[in-house]
Amino acid sequence: MTTDRPEAIRVDGLHKSFGAHEVLKGVSLTAREGDVVAIIGGSGSGKSTMLRCINFLETPSSGRITIAGETVAMRPDGSPADRRQIERIRQSLGMVFQSFNLWTHRTVLENLIEVPVHVLKLPKDQAIARARKLLARVGLAEKEGAYPAFMSGGQQQRAAIARALCMEPRAMLFDEPTSALDPELVGEVLQVIRGLAEEGRTMILVTHEMKFAREVADHVIYLHNGRIEEEGPPDQLFGGPKSDRLKQFLKSVA
Ligand code: ADP
Ligand code: MG
Repeated sequence: MTTDRPEAIRVDGLHKSFGAHEVLKGVSLTAREGDVVAIIGGSGSGKSTMLRCINFLETPSSGRITIAGETVAMRPDGSPADRRQIERIRQSLGMVFQSFNLWTHRTVLENLIEVPVHVLKLPKDQAIARARKLLARVGLAEKEGAYPAFMSGGQQQRAAIARALCMEPRAMLFDEPTSALDPELVGEVLQVIRGLAEEGRTMILVTHEMKFAREVADHVIYLHNGRIEEEGPPDQLFGGPKSDRLKQFLKSVA
């Protein structure tokens, strides 16, 4: 990784507790523009919470989040001080969840244009043109009139990725985008994500697909029990893990 590209996402000393349960115990990461940062770790280690804190779907307990050089103003309890700033930042980060989260009573095209038209106030014809381009991009040009229930999980997830891209986000956040898919559908979704990596998109990717993480990531973070146990370039992390916990983990998922 060269270090001259501007920082897209920076997290410093992030803590998050749910009641007395401290889930994140001071995690930090930096993704420069064009970086793919993969987050791996066992179930319950705090991966989703970390992603959700980055776009304020969860309120951090403390720490600092900086998106494209803009540090989010937080109150002492970690809650955002400026709702409009949060809205803006959320719109600049495309989030893709494990469970697709498409609106089931709308067609694919309607799913893609809803927020651009009603929130970003993009003229409808422009939103439709953008949506069609992105649907073609993810291999769903024929599906714009389909309802999610009539599509495979792989198609739904590709539509969800296209929907996130319709917001022209500065970075993409993926939370185990293939975990809910039947094995034979995983490849088509990874192929789309690989394409995004190749075109230089900034991404944070939580995944259980270790082979894929090794292939696309510039930097890998192994989270254990709310802390970064080990991090580094993929070949180092997967090829020569130092921590015993990481060695154990990699064996368990192999
Ligand atoms: P991962 O994504 O690595 O599996 P999570 O970030 O989902 O882990 O969860 C980390 C821990 O935080 C788990 O123990 C989980 O039960 C807890 N947790 C997550 N969200 C909440 C919540 N909204 N309320 C209470 N506990 C939560
Ligand atoms: Mg999770």
